[in-house]
Amino acid sequence: MIRGCIAVEDTICDGCHQTIHYPKRYLITDEDDKVMRFCVECAKEKGYAHYLEEKDGKALTFLPEVELM
Ligand SMILES: [Zn+2]
Repeated sequence: MIRGCIAVEDTICDGCHQTIHYPKRYLITDEDDKVMRFCVECAKEKGYAHYLEEKDGKALTFLPEVELM
């Protein structure tokens, strides 16, 4: 399962190990009972997230239905 979250406190990205500061968005996955947190850049790199063009700028959209296998 994949969830998009807002960092309520500083969180470490499990991909690039950079700190995700409040109130940035990040992604949680829990594959194989292992919870992983990814910053937006890593989420995009892994194909978990993409940007949709909107009238007032870019809106980040996570893809919870993405096929992981
Ligand atoms: Zn990262």
